[in-house]
Amino acid sequence: MNIFEKIITGEIPSKKILENSKFLAFHDIAPKAPIHALVIPKQSIKDFNAITPELMKEMSEFILEVVEELGIKESGYRLITNIGNDGGQEVPHLHFHILGGAKLKWPELI
Ligand code: 5GP
Repeated sequence: MNIFEKIITGEIPSKKILENSKFLAFHDIAPKAPIHALVIPKQSIKDFNAITPELMKEMSEFILEVVEELGIKESGYRLITNIGNDGGQEVPHLHFHILGGAKLKWPELI
């Protein structure tokens, strides 16, 4: 089991923001912004390459609930999903980063 699967089962604790039968949102353990949340599906999906239109739709709806809950829907935020080696993905379980709570910079990426 990877780390996010252990968070889903509760084997590893997390600071939960929102949860339903299909998705979980929790705070990143090493925040890169004042608000740094992660949104994951409960089903095992490696990365964005494996997403389906139905999952994308449901996940988008859930992410919108999460940004409402975090109070950053209007102030703005950044949504990121890293894919594979070049994308810098560390955990092989599809996740979106939600970053906000401050005016974010656009860093040099290489
Ligand atoms: P990736 O680099 O795969 O896109 O992002 C993985 C993210 O998971 C990183 O931002 C990292 O800080 C976060 N992370 C790794 N382990 C844990 C953990 O045990 N708990 C939480 N809440 N976040 C974690």
